[in-house]
Amino acid sequence: MHHHNLLLNTWISIERLDDMEPSVHFIVPFTALLLFGMEFKKALPVSLLALLPDVDALFLVHRSLSHSIVVMLIVVAPLLLLSHKFKPRLLGYALVALMATVSHSILDVFAGYTPILWPLNGYSVWVQVGLGAHIGSSPSLAPSAQLLTKPIMFQQFQSIDAPLFTGEGLILSVVLLSPVLVKACRTVWQQIKRNWSSR
Ligand SMILES: [Zn+2]
Repeated sequence: MHHHNLLLNTWISIERLDDMEPSVHFIVPFTALLLFGMEFKKALPVSLLALLPDVDALFLVHRSLSHSIVVMLIVVAPLLLLSHKFKPRLLGYALVALMATVSHSILDVFAGYTPILWPLNGYSVWVQVGLGAHIGSSPSLAPSAQLLTKPIMFQQFQSIDAPLFTGEGLILSVVLLSPVLVKACRTVWQQIKRNWSSR
């Protein structure tokens, strides 16, 4: 009996992360910044910052204070002030980096419980919205919207199983990146042609 309990405890403390995968957390700000007109080599490091909130998983805590927009503001505020005072040229980057990191939490709020306003608010929030369609003899639409909350508990697990990427996330990323790849190939090709003709 005791043995059985032990097994049960071990089972419970394994956390499965069914949420937004890193590839999506990266590709969303990356594509948005490119569409905004930011250069590839500038958008890349900024979008990689959007992966930072999930480093908490390496410490076996799922969605900890690194997902709080309040914490992000507190961490970034001194950087913003410093760059404003000494390197105004960098202020824009600091702001974009903050927005990329905040986008992580906003995406997560739609995927599962996220302590987005900790410590101002003691609840993890999950926004569930959807519109379902029933197709058949009597077609109908089933809209749904609910705001789920639960008290924030930063719990440490014995292990976490996290999807680094799924097929869906991968193909989304490939499709969104394909214009960038096509452009890059075209540039390289034109370079080769130019070098060839100048011989
Ligand atoms: Zn996350």
